[in-house]
Amino acid sequence: MILSPYEEKRIGRTTLSQSDIQYFRNRYGKRFIRALRAVEEDKVVQYHFFPSDSITWIVKGSARQYLVIPDTYCTCRSFYQDVVIAGAYKFCYHLLAQSIAEIRNQFTARKSNDAERRILYDKWRRTD
Ligand SMILES: [Zn+2]
Repeated sequence: MILSPYEEKRIGRTTLSQSDIQYFRNRYGKRFIRALRAVEEDKVVQYHFFPSDSITWIVKGSARQYLVIPDTYCTCRSFYQDVVIAGAYKFCYHLLAQSIAEIRNQFTARKSNDAERRILYDKWRRTD
């Protein structure tokens, strides 16, 4: 996981205290604020596709939807520029949002079929 067990425990609380928020802000800055807002505004979606029984996570951004592979990858520009190229961070705010959403069990769950999965993947995989 991108967060430590200690951090998972802190972020998992239903109501964050001022000191929780301060802790995460100090550590992750604006990315934390954006990630928390994304979770609270229901921008994190978990698709469950059948019959393959596969799971895909999406975070809705301002312009488009981003495909997030938990703890690993995101299709946004920031992930490419700041994480892969610059090595400035280990994750973008979408990855953080997915992690918070999963820990708190606070996301939209959708079911769909594998035919639609192929269509959606064509859209989500774009990295522009
Ligand atoms: Zn991202």
